[in-house]
Amino acid sequence: PIRVRFAPSPTGYLHLGGLRTALFNYLLAKKTGGEFILRIEDTDQSRLVKGATEKLISVLSWSGIKADEGPIHGGSKGPYVQSERTELYRQHADQLIESGHAYRCFCTPERIDRIRKLGLKHGNQIGYDRHCAHLSENEINENMEKNLSFTVRMRTPEGETKVNDLVHGQVKFSNRLLDDGVLLKSDGFPTYHLANVVDDHMMGITHVLRGDEWLPSTPKHLILYNAFGWKAPQFAHLPLLMKPGGGKLSKRSNDAYVEHYINKGYFPEALNNFVALLGWSVPSGESEIITSMEELVDKFNVDNLNDSPAVVDVDKLGWINKQHLLNRAETAEGILSMANYLQPIVHDTFNKKLQDIDPEKKYTYRLETDYIGKVIEAVKERIRIIHDVPELCEYFFIEPDYTTEDAKTLKKKLKSKPKDIVFSDNSLEGLKALETFDTASINTYWQDVATSHDVNYNRIMPVLRFAMTGKGVGTSIPTTMEVLGKSTCLERLDKARN
Ligand code: GLU
Repeated sequence: PIRVRFAPSPTGYLHLGGLRTALFNYLLAKKTGGEFILRIEDTDQSRLVKGATEKLISVLSWSGIKADEGPIHGGSKGPYVQSERTELYRQHADQLIESGHAYRCFCTPERIDRIRKLGLKHGNQIGYDRHCAHLSENEINENMEKNLSFTVRMRTPEGETKVNDLVHGQVKFSNRLLDDGVLLKSDGFPTYHLANVVDDHMMGITHVLRGDEWLPSTPKHLILYNAFGWKAPQFAHLPLLMKPGGGKLSKRSNDAYVEHYINKGYFPEALNNFVALLGWSVPSGESEIITSMEELVDKFNVDNLNDSPAVVDVDKLGWINKQHLLNRAETAEGILSMANYLQPIVHDTFNKKLQDIDPEKKYTYRLETDYIGKVIEAVKERIRIIHDVPELCEYFFIEPDYTTEDAKTLKKKLKSKPKDIVFSDNSLEGLKALETFDTASINTYWQDVATSHDVNYNRIMPVLRFAMTGKGVGTSIPTTMEVLGKSTCLERLDKARN
């Protein structure tokens, strides 16, 4: 079976590129009935961040990505955390020394630094001059007896290395340009290259899908596979994530991380959908909106990976999220899921707001999920993310303040004839008398009022809108009134006219 892995270094938050890598590997595994492995690459102890692994796993699970094998649930090829496998890497480094594919390097950091600077001066990118590649047996033994500290370096062969990549096709690397890279550091910890290759092999990985930034490392990995006499996995390198204006998506900027989108209220299925389109495309002629993980698994195909620039366009993400929001809003269950999610957010938003305004005033302040669900249905065409609800539609939760300067100006601009009609006692009484209070009956009611006073229905709407929302634009007024309910509407009309 196909076995793939996501192998992050736990250095903090999950980058969108990391989510994409995890997702593509996961999709390939699920598509083929294979296994998806989570492996934590934590051998660079200086870059470790406490709690990062737990956070990472929780973000992945938010996305719906669960590992078949990994640090939490284990598996037959564990441990799945590299710092618990260091003995294994040491053994393998020894094996390579014995077979002549690697050598001990006793050069001091100072010497290596000097050599590198000298090399750079002569336009030579290679870091190390291979001094220790040529030590005699005697010299090595002497150094060992003196207990000199050493690293283990790979003995890069001559010639060239061809990477057959599923995305890029064949890419050739001249071995002359590859350093005799360090495999084992002087503290006995492996470098990324050694640990990665040993683990991919020991864990039976068949396909490696990862970001383009690892392509230059791949010839080194292939040389190692060769040196061990192992079969290398298939590689697919995914295009770098770019900013819309060009340039790499920064690691420093907030919106490069999944957590940012979780906090903003984007849906996991929307972010997955968006991220899936960064370096992969739907079969031609099909919709770019993919509603669920199952559908993604179904559509995903390694052949449709591509190397065109993957632009992280938040605007497109917003559009995609909206499609998913509309999709959720189609079922009662979907509405409820959104209402449940929104409830604490509405609470927090308005709790804070209410502390800042006059506590004596009476506010509509409704928190039942039933009510919130109705609000979502009423405004779904006007929002892109669920957090837009408290932001753009606060009038569903608190009474508009008709006394602000803006409100007063707006009120002054309303035409006096429709204003008189809407605010008349008669109109209010009639509204009060309505037996059914839904969009249709409210609509008919105001149509009739307009006709009987010989004004255009469209002219009374701004007055009603002002009374209901304190604003000049917004959702359809009859719908808004239905959601607010009769008593709230009557209260607001009464307040707004005074
Ligand atoms: N630990 C590497 C990373 O942080 C893994 C790269 C790879 O997939 O080989 O992304």
